[in-house]
Amino acid sequence: MEHLFAGWRAQFVAGGERPAGCVFCTIGAESENDDSNYVIARGKLSFVVMNLYPYTSGHLMVVPSSHVGDLAGLDGELTNEMLGLVRRSHDALVAAYHPEGINVGMNLGRAAGAGIADHVHVHLVPRWSGDANFMSTVAETRVLPETLSDSLAKLRAHWPAN
Ligand SMILES: [Zn+2]
Repeated sequence: MEHLFAGWRAQFVAGGERPAGCVFCTIGAESENDDSNYVIARGKLSFVVMNLYPYTSGHLMVVPSSHVGDLAGLDGELTNEMLGLVRRSHDALVAAYHPEGINVGMNLGRAAGAGIADHVHVHLVPRWSGDANFMSTVAETRVLPETLSDSLAKLRAHWPAN
């Protein structure tokens, strides 16, 4: 897990500057741009989006559509919907990628490795035995086995009805 969290931080740093404002709020408000924003699915109050700097193929996030800065801001309805989207994301990842495991987690605060620290989000990262070792060995020349567009199409195709 230490490798994993460090990896997320490194990838956000490597990704360069983020746009002004809150990117999650922008994506949350722009449902007409779901294809170009790599949004896999939406609920009433939250959405599921590909991570632009994936740790492994299929790395996605469940995000509130409105700006929620910490766990205290997640009310019961939003919490229930997000956990439901976490479960459906899990099912889609299993069906699309057949991973050996899946990390589900939140980085709360920059010290914990959050790339976007002021808008809470849940990461789901499909894992395979040895991927962390592989990553640390070749981190400088990381090659993703598929494009984000391919991941988006694959996860949408495997998105469960409920
Ligand atoms: Zn926001």
